[in-house]
Amino acid sequence: TPRIFSGIQPSGGLTLGNYLGALKRFAELQGGEAETIYCIVDLHAITVWQDPEVLRARIREAAAAFMAAGVDPARSVLFNQSQVSAHAELAWLFNTVARVGWMYRMTQFKDKAGKNSENASLGLLAYPALMAADILAYRATAVPVGEDQKQHLELTRDIAAKFNHDYGVEHFPITQPLIEGVATRVMSLRDGSKKMSKSDPSDASRINLTDDADTIAQKIRKARTDADPLPGSMDGLKDRPEAKNLVNIYAALSDETPDQILSRFEGQGFGAFKPALAEVAVAALSPITAKMSELMSDPAEIDRILGDGADRAEAIARPILEETKDVMGLLSTR
Ligand code: ATP
Ligand code: MG
Repeated sequence: TPRIFSGIQPSGGLTLGNYLGALKRFAELQGGEAETIYCIVDLHAITVWQDPEVLRARIREAAAAFMAAGVDPARSVLFNQSQVSAHAELAWLFNTVARVGWMYRMTQFKDKAGKNSENASLGLLAYPALMAADILAYRATAVPVGEDQKQHLELTRDIAAKFNHDYGVEHFPITQPLIEGVATRVMSLRDGSKKMSKSDPSDASRINLTDDADTIAQKIRKARTDADPLPGSMDGLKDRPEAKNLVNIYAALSDETPDQILSRFEGQGFGAFKPALAEVAVAALSPITAKMSELMSDPAEIDRILGDGADRAEAIARPILEETKDVMGLLSTR
């Protein structure tokens, strides 16, 4: 049976990039033929130090963001990773399957570890083995993600293939990435060569799902661009990454194609384009922001929903973990 799994780290407040690259897709994929399982991946977030009080709040805030963006806990399994211990257990098993060299090649590790990579946590290096465990604990067949996670998903496929090969069984599926739409890589508002990230130290680099209308308009107004007028189609934006990014964001938020938008703005500059983009962004995001704050006013209800999701996730993942241990020659849990 087809099964979709994906997750988001509570490593900061969720951004427009997370919404367009992940959350919006998560909601759209519900109700299709595949079962949908969505996770707040707190064990991933702690691969970089997190303040405990802030982390606790961000886990609940992330749950609110999922639901505000349309993920329905009645139609999807929505839960928090560390509350289902099969993830950590399967990750250890995969640490014995994955090779150290695979991990050192990951661009996310290189970016996040920075120059002094010897001082990064061991968890940051092993991050993709935990991600493979998240996905394969459910034998998920497809994973909707942004472009930045493509390399990690290839590693999940490599781990599944090596496990199946090493133990001579067809135990795990080879998962398909779902990287679709015009906003699979939303760029920073300050630097067109960097992706928008919730953990970027500059708040001006991103639009947060909790930003109010004035803040959104101000961040878009200050977004880095060039001085040239807009061309009539995307072919004319080849060497203009910042301009291309803003047009792609407009397109994703308004469900139009980038060329449709450029045909309207041809010959105009950012003085005209940016206020129009701000209007579209506020119209799309303000209902989500409002719904999030409503949901966050009842943290006990969020905890109840996550607890229920964890029970449902556990019921799927536990038998798969036990089977995996059995394949490897480990005694199953009594
Ligand atoms: P961090 O900076 O802590 O890594 P992040 O913003 O990159 O945070 P993640 O939790 O790592 O967010 O990723 C969650 C999902 O959002 C993934 O599917 C990822 O591909 C997607 N995503 C993250 N940033 C972008 C972006 N700029 N554009 C499109 N999708 C994105
Ligand atoms: Mg990330």
